Amino acid sequence: MGKLLICDPVDAAAIDEMRTAGITVDVHDDITPAALAEIIGGYDGIVVRSRTKVDADLIDRGTSLKVIIRGGVGLDTIDVVYAQSKGISVQNTPAANSNAVVELVLGMMLSLAHHIDRADTGMKAGKWEKKALAGTEIEGKTLGIVGYGRIGQMLGEKARALGMTVLAYDPFVEHPDTVPLDTLLTHADYISVHVPLSKETTDLLDASTFAKMKDGVFLVQASRGGTVNEAALYEALVSGKVAGAGIDVFSEEPPKSEALAKLVALPQVIATPHIGAATEEALRRVSGEIVKLAKAALA
Ligand code: NAD
Repeated sequence: MGKLLICDPVDAAAIDEMRTAGITVDVHDDITPAALAEIIGGYDGIVVRSRTKVDADLIDRGTSLKVIIRGGVGLDTIDVVYAQSKGISVQNTPAANSNAVVELVLGMMLSLAHHIDRADTGMKAGKWEKKALAGTEIEGKTLGIVGYGRIGQMLGEKARALGMTVLAYDPFVEHPDTVPLDTLLTHADYISVHVPLSKETTDLLDASTFAKMKDGVFLVQASRGGTVNEAALYEALVSGKVAGAGIDVFSEEPPKSEALAKLVALPQVIATPHIGAATEEALRRVSGEIVKLAKAALA
C-alpha cells in the first residue's frame, strides 16, 4: 500500500474513498513549496492542482515517488519529461473541468455584452446608468475559438445553441469549424482562447494579431497566463480596438505587478482569480478521477 500526499484541495469523499482502498492519505492542501520539499521524500504519490509547482528539484527530493497526479488539465506546472526520466508516472484528469470553464467563459461573454458587472457596480454606488449601459447581444455574432480541444469544442457547441456562428483555429484538429488564424481574427466579434501554454503558444495573441481583429472585438482569456500578451491586450483595450475582455488567468497569479493591476482596473475588463475550474461539480469530477488514478497506482 502506498502513501499519498494531497497538496491542493480535493473533495473529502474522495479522500475517504482512497483511505478505504487502503492508501495512507495525508492532506496538506495549502502546503508551501518549502514545506513540501521537506516532506515529499516520504511519499509514493502526490496530488497537485495548478497552485503547486513540481520542478526538477522537487522531483529529486521525491525519492520514493511513483506517481504525480494533477487534478485538472495543464501540465505546464510540472516538469513532466524529468519526472518520466526518473520513472515517475504523471497523470491528469483532462475532461473533468471542461464544462466549468465553458460556463465561466459564456458568463463573461454575456456580461461583456450586457454590462452586467458594470451595472451592478454602478447600482451599488447609487447610480442608475440605464442609458450609458445599453448593451449588445451575442446572438447572431461570430465567436472565434483559438484552440479547439475539449474546452474549445464544448464552448463551440454551447455558443451555437445561443445563436452564435463558430469559427475555430487549431492546427492539430481536423474539424469543419476550423479556419486559418487570420480568417478567425478578421471575422470574429468575440475571441476566446483555449490553448495550452507552450513555447509555440506563448504570446499567440500579441500586438500583431490584435491589429488584425475587428474594431470593438471582445476577448476572453481563460486558458493559461502567457498565451495572450497582456501588455498588448492593455494597449488594445485602451485604444478601443478591443471593446472589453474577460480574464481568468494571468502571467503572474495573483497579479501583483503594476502593469497587471492597471489591466485588471480597466472598467471594460472583467477579471476573475483563476476560478474557471472552481465549481463544486468540477471538484467532484476531478476528485473522482483522482481516486481512480491513485487506486491504480498505489492501492
Ligand atoms: P485540450 O488539450 O483538449 O485542447 C487544447 C487545444 O489547443 C488542442 O486541440 C491543441 O491542438 C490546441 N493547440 C495547441 N497548440 C496550438 C496552437 N499553437 N494554436 C492553436 N491551437 C493549438 O485542452 P483543454 O482541456 O481544452 O484546455 C485548454 C486550456 O484551458 C489549457 O490551457 C488549460 O490549462 C486551460 N484550463 C484553464 C482552466 C481555468 O481554470 N481557467 C481550467 C481548465 C483548463
